[in-house]
Amino acid sequence: MIGFDADDTLWRSQDYFDDAQAEFERIVGGYVDLADVRVLDALYAVETANIAVFGYGVKGMALSMVESATQITGGRIAALDLHRIVEMAKGLLRHPVKLLPGIRKAVEAVAVEFDVVLITKGDLFHQEAKVRESGLSDLFRRIEIVSEKDPPTYARLLAEFGIDAGQFLMIGNSLRSDIAPVLALGGWGVHMPYRTTWAHETAAEIPTDQDQAPRMRVVAAPDALPAAVDALAVCARTPREA
Ligand SMILES: [Mg+2]
Repeated sequence: MIGFDADDTLWRSQDYFDDAQAEFERIVGGYVDLADVRVLDALYAVETANIAVFGYGVKGMALSMVESATQITGGRIAALDLHRIVEMAKGLLRHPVKLLPGIRKAVEAVAVEFDVVLITKGDLFHQEAKVRESGLSDLFRRIEIVSEKDPPTYARLLAEFGIDAGQFLMIGNSLRSDIAPVLALGGWGVHMPYRTTWAHETAAEIPTDQDQAPRMRVVAAPDALPAAVDALAVCARTPREA
C-alpha cells in the first residue's frame, strides 16, 4: 500500500503560507523596526507553542499571528490590522487548489499496481474542501485527515488498513511528518522535497545507518515517483540476507 501526503505533495500549499508570513511582517513592520525585531522568529515560536492547542492549519496560523502581533507591538496593534490578518486567513482558506505538475499521472501510475491512500493533517474543513476540489479523490482507496502524523498515528492507520509497516510506503515532502515516522515503524518512504518548507516540517531524525537508509528514496519531481516506488517494492519483496 502506498500513502500520499497532500500539501506540497499533490498540490501547492506552503507558497501561500510564505506569502501570508511576508504580509504579516509588513503589517507588524508598521509598528516596530524590522531591523531590530526578528518578527518571523517570534511568530514561529508562538505557532510552535500553539500547535498542541490549535493543531495545524490556517486557522491556528491566524490566531497565532494575532497573538504574536499583540506581543511584538506591545498591544499597540490596531483592530484594523488584526482584521487584515483575519482576511488574509480567509484568502488562504479559499485559494484555488493548484496540483503540482505531473502529479495526477504519477498517482494514476502508482495506483495501477498498488492500493493508494491519502494521509494529510491540518484543518479538517479546509483539507476536505481541497481534496474535493483537487479532482483526485477517486484515485484513493481511503482518505485520512489526521491531527498529527507521528508513529502512533501511522501505527493506528496501518492496523485499520490491516497491513504491516513493511508493506507500507509513504510519499511526501515532509521528512518530519511523512518519512521519519514511517521509517521508524519499519515502513518505506519516498521523499519529494518542495521548493519551500515550513521550518517545523524539516526538523526530523532520519536514520542514515546501513540498515535504514535503503528504505528511503529521494525524488525531485512527480514523474520520478513510479520508478522510485517500484524500486523500493522490489527491495520489500526481496528477503534480506542475515
Ligand atoms: Mg506536505
